[in-house]
Amino acid sequence: MKVVITEYLRIDTESEVWECRCCSNALGNARENYKHGLLVHDRNPREVHPPKLDPDRYEYNFAPDPEWCRILEYYCPHCGVMVEAEYTVPGAKPLHDLELDIDSLKRRAAEFVAEGEDMQDASLPIPDPREHLGHSHDHGHHHHGKGAH
Ligand SMILES: [Zn+2]
Repeated sequence: MKVVITEYLRIDTESEVWECRCCSNALGNARENYKHGLLVHDRNPREVHPPKLDPDRYEYNFAPDPEWCRILEYYCPHCGVMVEAEYTVPGAKPLHDLELDIDSLKRRAAEFVAEGEDMQDASLPIPDPREHLGHSHDHGHHHHGKGAH
């Protein structure tokens, strides 16, 4: 069963891997930090939040100081969608912000199957418009909103 965790991430409870919800590719072991399977862009925060005052004239210009703040952007290596962005200090390791009890998740997923419920993709919209081009490598997958009812 594929259980939605965030807008961009889900877990396949049978294979115990993280998957990208945009392209359905595997991102790595679900018992480890999903960020291990993503590309990281270590960005200067001033590119993301440009100074509002002339930095040559003012030391404090409403932009984060790159000596104290970095923005780590995490991308799916298969489809390039940005999965997560993290504000951190320079040189810090990626935050392990989603550590799930996979055994408990599998038990709960099995219970949902027993009750005839379907947790797959829940009601969250797929964020990438390319999804609508109609590819799916996911057998037994339900159709999304194509007005088939
Ligand atoms: Zn992807």
